[in-house]
Amino acid sequence: MGDQEARHVPMDAAFFRGWLTEVASAVDEEADRLTELDSAIGDADHGTNMRRGFTAVVTAVGEQRPASPGAVLALAGRTLVSTVGGASGPLYGTLLRRTGKALGEAPEVGRAELASALRAGVDAVSRLGGAVPGDKTMLDALVPAVEALGEGLDAASAAAERGAQATVPMRARKGRASYLGERSVGHQDPGAASSALLLAALARTGRQGGGPAPDAGEVRDD
Ligand code: ADP
Ligand code: MG
Repeated sequence: MGDQEARHVPMDAAFFRGWLTEVASAVDEEADRLTELDSAIGDADHGTNMRRGFTAVVTAVGEQRPASPGAVLALAGRTLVSTVGGASGPLYGTLLRRTGKALGEAPEVGRAELASALRAGVDAVSRLGGAVPGDKTMLDALVPAVEALGEGLDAASAAAERGAQATVPMRARKGRASYLGERSVGHQDPGAASSALLLAALARTGRQGGGPAPDAGEVRDD
């Protein structure tokens, strides 16, 4: 997609509501897998946490309909913090709140602005949790995704997925999984897996142009 995508996808409040709705349905479909990953190296609640959080997010942004991308993400972040008890609630809440704050009140944003705002969000996650790439956390998917965002949403999604896969041989140094030490090796980090879902949902939303999905088989020339 590259430049085409940057020129043609209007990233307005509806686009970001669409993204969060895509995340909620992906998380709903993958909740069992996320919980399974968390049962290997955590406390088996990551799928439940994410489902509860993003279900509440979709309800909140649907009811309150914030007018700008920044306001949509800020509301989503606050909702995650208040509905998710696990570590992932404050961490994803901070990611979305900080990203939203960086986007400000602009009614539409371009991909370059989204990339720098997400970078601010990811940096805030790193500061809050004290983790860096290599610690076997969501940052192993988020950091490469943000770095690839300049090449497009699909590139960012692919980078997040590779980052999530790359956590398998890592030893956890942050979060609950770090209590396991060497025994955390050989399992994918659940938060990195859910971050890859967030980025895949963003790429799908970009392909749909932020509006309703095109009819099956329809060829889009934009
Ligand atoms: P909890 O660990 O409280 O049960 P979840 O299971 O919902 O919360 O989320 C676990 C995920 O949170 C981990 O897989 C990891 O990706 C992420 N995580 C935990 N601690 C940190 C941290 N300090 N920094 C970044 N991510 C973290
Ligand atoms: Mg857990």
